[in-house]
Amino acid sequence: ANLCKAFPLGGGFFGGGKRFLKAVDGVDLSLSRGETLGLVGESGSGKSTVGNCILRLLDPDSGSIAFDGVELTELSGQALMKARARMQVVFQDPQSSLDPRMTVGGIVSLPLRVQGVARGSELRDRAKASLAEVGLGPECLDRYPHEFSGGQRQRIGLARALVADPAFVVMDEPTSALDVSVQAQILNLMAGLQEKRGHAYLFISHDLTVVRHVSRRIAVMYLGAVVETAPTDALFTNPAHPYTQALLASAPLPDPTKRQNLARLTGDVPSPVDLPPGCRFHPRCPEAMAVCACEAPPKVAVAAGHEVVCHLHSSG
Ligand code: SF4
Ligand code: MG
Repeated sequence: ANLCKAFPLGGGFFGGGKRFLKAVDGVDLSLSRGETLGLVGESGSGKSTVGNCILRLLDPDSGSIAFDGVELTELSGQALMKARARMQVVFQDPQSSLDPRMTVGGIVSLPLRVQGVARGSELRDRAKASLAEVGLGPECLDRYPHEFSGGQRQRIGLARALVADPAFVVMDEPTSALDVSVQAQILNLMAGLQEKRGHAYLFISHDLTVVRHVSRRIAVMYLGAVVETAPTDALFTNPAHPYTQALLASAPLPDPTKRQNLARLTGDVPSPVDLPPGCRFHPRCPEAMAVCACEAPPKVAVAAGHEVVCHLHSSG
């Protein structure tokens, strides 16, 4: 089921403020240059679908995706290829996302070959430079993915994503297959490269601790819709949506005593094919009211840059 829908918020050109806009089921996401937006939610909430629609690996049902002021859903063929060249993705599992029959040099330089922006020895030079940026030496160029550890493979994935200097990178659970110490190294590496090169990251994860570490803003997804968007600090200190509160309650916190008063998630995630009427969270919501079962809640701004989709916060 493709639940993904997107709407434009307005203009947005490269180098300006907002330059990339995306919405899911009526709620908008936007990203600026050099920014990381975290996208969190349980598995099956549609996080990866959003990422794949933005990259046009999937076609959204309806709606729009503006990238550098260009409407991606209207592009096809050459023009789409060209726009997509500025967007890359890093997947969760570096094992299966790297072709085992290709050398690391071939893998890393692939985006350059696909886009036809480099040839011959330049391919190798740029692959070498990109590997150096992720902390891998030139001796890696002629080796194969299976010769590397999980963390090193994810560095190779990162080198491939960044080799053509993309404006926007979808990071889809990039570190969840790695152990914690390696995770931290990769996250710090990603942050350093972003600072240097100004890429925008959409960082998809079910892990709130990781997302908190890397994101300036966070969007919380539930069943294909964004239910809350907030600056990272505000989301953690002042979560407004009962679902966000429940997610925080089930995440490992440094101080376990703080957890006591927060509601825990109960019940199963309803099927996205058979969405509940009204608020889609109402069957599991500890604060559900009569209105929640029949009327879809409005999107309300509770503070600057902090929006929540919940009847508790609507003025009426
Ligand atoms: Fe809970 Fe109602 Fe808010 Fe939905 S709208 S999250 S059911 S209080
Ligand atoms: Mg996923």
